[in-house]
Amino acid sequence: MPKRLRHLLLILGDQLNFDSAAFDGFDKSLDAVWMAEVAEESTHVWSHKARIVIFLAAMRHFRQTLVAEGISVDYRAIDDPQNGGTFAAELSAAIERLSPQKLIVVLPGEQRVLESLQNVAHESGLPLHVVPDRHFYTTPEEFADHAQGRKQLRLEFFYRELRRRFDVLMDGNTPEGGKWNYDSDNRGSFKKTGPGTVASPQSFPPDKVTAEVMETVETKFADHPGSLAKFDWPVTRDDAQRALDDFIQHRLSTFGDFQDAMWTDEPYLYHSKLSTALNLKLLDPREVVEAAVDAYRGGKANLSGVEGFVRQILGWREYVRGIYFLYMPEYLERNALGAQEPLPDWFWTGETEMHCLQQAIGQTLEYGYAHHIQRLMVTGLFCLLLGVDPKRVHEWYLAVYVDAIEWVELPNSLGMSQFADGGVMASKPYVATGKYIKRMSNYCQSCQFNPDLATGEDACPFTTMYWDFLQRHQKQLQGNNRMSLQLRNLQRKEPQELVQITDQAERFRQRMRS
Ligand code: FAD
Ligand code: SF4
Repeated sequence: MPKRLRHLLLILGDQLNFDSAAFDGFDKSLDAVWMAEVAEESTHVWSHKARIVIFLAAMRHFRQTLVAEGISVDYRAIDDPQNGGTFAAELSAAIERLSPQKLIVVLPGEQRVLESLQNVAHESGLPLHVVPDRHFYTTPEEFADHAQGRKQLRLEFFYRELRRRFDVLMDGNTPEGGKWNYDSDNRGSFKKTGPGTVASPQSFPPDKVTAEVMETVETKFADHPGSLAKFDWPVTRDDAQRALDDFIQHRLSTFGDFQDAMWTDEPYLYHSKLSTALNLKLLDPREVVEAAVDAYRGGKANLSGVEGFVRQILGWREYVRGIYFLYMPEYLERNALGAQEPLPDWFWTGETEMHCLQQAIGQTLEYGYAHHIQRLMVTGLFCLLLGVDPKRVHEWYLAVYVDAIEWVELPNSLGMSQFADGGVMASKPYVATGKYIKRMSNYCQSCQFNPDLATGEDACPFTTMYWDFLQRHQKQLQGNNRMSLQLRNLQRKEPQELVQITDQAERFRQRMRS
């Protein structure tokens, strides 16, 4: 540790990139890095064991890289008896121990964390310099400029701006292939025979460092949800790069066609499984996008799939971050549909007779992973139709996914999936009957319910609650053009059937509360 410490760089668990702005002007003889594993980050929402392991294991590996570079690291392990358990306690103790002249941190991905660091700095009378997060293509300020004066924000406009600005999949001034968006080609489902053999994503079995973390987590967080039995996530930059190569070689060419499809006991299908490595900053989004575009240019993947993939990273990922910083902290409190139901307890066990939910939640608890459509159109749709309080929904998503960090999780769960932001993220609520799930998966084939039925013993709860949702929110949604077809279909229903639907939905809600 330098004798008279100039700068103490606060490196958080999702800031594991050596090229970050925090290291600009870093001088090994004057500066040091501070990293702390604190229990509060795993308990403020009841985190999945795999989510805890992934952060701690990646942090410990990053510390090794820094130390190998000759950088002094003040590191507090989670099982250190002196650990204060919170960022605030740990940072205060480090300031007392090390007496730095200045603190530097990259803009954290969660406002709660930034506030806690700012409070400590303030109380200690030290300057805290918050530097931009260069991992992203855009800054919150640029997004705010984009949003300025627009009545409604839409991903498509922002995405096109970024395609032009960063010259991604462009042919001069026009989009590659003549179209900006191949979304309609990205909605395929499987034939009755299913996907056939799907190449499993490359596995990264835990090394000694990760195995140690797993042992600690099993003991210290024994009552937390989820399993570690199948933990094989990449937690180093090298492994993250291998995971990227594996996706580009084996799954990208099929990714686009079946982006929205689901299949029993196939947790990953053709998805990249890269969100965690990206969010921890083990991978740079530019290298991921470049690898996909190169595959297209090299004739190894088609344009619709590659554009679909690029749209997720250059488009959605940047867009949701912009929304988070533009609307926080009031965004967290939004509840545009006035939803108040509790989250059913079985969301933490997967023990339900609804097969689609059993699958989506079951694999979430097993791997800490579900792909986008499982999150949006199975678990998210269920909560939206049932009318679960969006804050409880947000807490669940933040807790159970290995890639969950508030800047990306909150706009997706509270906004896109629950419509609690009243239409900032999505132009209409993503609502559908069980028939959507039937079309996109084989889940309904092994379910006791019938997605075509809204009433009666065999009725699919999604279908019953869909019509009930439209009735309950009819007035509020009437002015939304994109809902007009769905509302017209509601008006075609016989009054008697609507009464039966309301009764059945109410009975179902009662059952979900108990
Ligand atoms: P792929 O399907 O292979 O997609 C490629 C990459 O695109 C992802 O790795 C991810 O970085 C990015 N991406 C795709 N969709 C989105 C999106 N909507 N927003 C931001 N980035 C996107 N993503 C997270 O990273 N963390 C979360 O906590 C999170 N919570 C979500 C909650 C809900 C309710 C919903 C509907 C979506 C959520 N997403 C979240 C977005 C998306 O579901 C995941 O990024 C994706 O499933 C991760 O798996 P993958 O890496 O195999 O993605
Ligand atoms: Fe899910 Fe309904 Fe299909 Fe059952 S019938 S799997 S509950 S959508």
